[in-house]
Formats: sequence, structure tokens, C-alpha cells
Amino acid sequence: MGGTGFWWTWRVLGSLLLVPGILGWGKEGHYTICKIAEGFLSEEALAAVKELLPASAKGDLAEVCSWPDEIRHSYHWRWSGPLHYVDTPDFKCNYKYCRDCHDSAGHKDRCVTAAIYNYSMQLSSGYHESISESGYNLTEALMFLSHFIGDVHQPLHVGFTGDEGGNTIIVRWYRRKTNLHHVWDNMIIESAVKTYYSKDLAIMIKAIERNITDGWFNVIPSWKICANNQTVCPNEHASESISLACKYAYRNATPGSTLTDDYFLSRLPVVEKRLAQSGVRLAATLNRIFSSQAKQIADA
Ligand SMILES: [Zn+2]
Repeated sequence: MGGTGFWWTWRVLGSLLLVPGILGWGKEGHYTICKIAEGFLSEEALAAVKELLPASAKGDLAEVCSWPDEIRHSYHWRWSGPLHYVDTPDFKCNYKYCRDCHDSAGHKDRCVTAAIYNYSMQLSSGYHESISESGYNLTEALMFLSHFIGDVHQPLHVGFTGDEGGNTIIVRWYRRKTNLHHVWDNMIIESAVKTYYSKDLAIMIKAIERNITDGWFNVIPSWKICANNQTVCPNEHASESISLACKYAYRNATPGSTLTDDYFLSRLPVVEKRLAQSGVRLAATLNRIFSSQAKQIADA
């Protein structure tokens, strides 16, 4: 690599790192999801989570839910980049594991849904076999799983291959130039916090939590369950996401368009519901993994 090439790469990476959240739901999105999940954890799951958290989390799962985004461009972790999303063929508004779960070089099982299966399996086997026997790093598995269950709910993390899930669709968000993927990772949440929640993310989180216990109360049980008693069901979540991407994210957001109140006000409820769903589902997943009942079945 030539000197200028290296400098250029470094500059691009450096500037990317200065833009928070260009890499997944933004920091606020992941923080919100994990905060919501904390409120739904069983006592057993909460104890297990606290034991696995790194010291830097200070006992709070939400503090480390963006960790996979922070490390993904460093040399050691570059392999994890394709695990944050899964793309479908252009203009296909459905998702199929066999067709879609691969990285850009075509390697199978390198996508977000496979990562969710993998890390939930690591946590289950680690918890049920005793940590040392499993050979997995369960702290990393917990942080990856918590992050990826969030990512698979962001509609444009299951977007079209040709536009990289909206990353190459340049739009204006009000007066600011950005891309469509970033609008869904960050801008909608940031604008909502600024406009409706006194610039305080904690107030937005409280509002979503209130909606879960009031407005969505009746549908919560259906959010939690996976068909056939599976521990995780990322394929269902990915199917929901691409369908929402087609219906809401891509619609009226072609290259060069300016997105303002019409787009913001109609899409914000979708974003808030996806944040709620991923929080509730992350908790339900961790409750299943860390339940003593599951342990008894495994031991039998
Ligand atoms: Zn991510």
C-alpha cells in the first residue's frame, strides 16, 4: 500500500469514526433497545448478564450495546463487518436465508441472521455446559447478540444489495446532506429527541416504555414468541424489516430527494415500534437462554 493510499484510507476511516452511528442503528438506537430490554429481563437472566458484562459496562448492558460498531473497522475485527446486516436482491421485498445470507464475496452464513443464531448458541451452550468448557468468549457473545438483535430490526439493515441498504442513496434530511441508511440509523431518532423529547434520550426511552405497557400491551406476547419454541427467530425479524424497508424506508426517498416533515412524521412511529420490538425480543431471548428450566432440560 502506497503512502498516499494509506493516508487516504486512514483519513476516510478516521472521518467515518467521527460520524457517530454510521454503522448500525446509531449509538442512541442501540442504547435505547438495550435499556428497554433491561426492563424485561427475568431475575435469572439479569444475574447472568451482569456476570458476563465487561467492567467498562458498570453493570449496564446498554453501555456496551454499540461495542460491535466501535470495533468493526479495526484490523482484528474486520471479519465481523458483514455480520451487521443482510441484503436482498434489488427490489425484492422478501428475505430468504439460503438466498441472502452471505457476505459480498459470496461466503455463506456471513450475515446478521446467521450471527444471531451463532451467538445465541454460544451463550446457551456456555451457560449450560459451564463457561470454561464451552471455549467461547461469552462476554463478546452477549455484546454481539444484543447488538445484532437490534440491527436486524432496523429496516434498512435488510435492504437491497445494489444500494447497500440505502447507504448509496444520497438524500437531504431537512437541510443536511446525508444518506438514507443514516436517516434510519440516526436522523429520525435524533430529530425526535430534539423535537418531542426535550433533547433528552432518556425521555424518549420512557415514552416508548410507556407505549409498550399501554398501547402495545396486547401484542407484546406475540412479539416475544418464536415459532416451534426456538430460542431465536431472526429470519422472521429480517422478513419484517425488508417489508418495512419497501413500504416505508425506500418509498419517496429516491437519490437526491429532500426528506422533511411528511417523511419524518410518517416514519417515526415505525422506528419507535422497531426499537420497542427489538428491546422486548432481546429480553425474551436472554430470558430463554438463561432460564434454569432450560438448564434442567439440557442436563437431563
Ligand atoms: Zn451494527
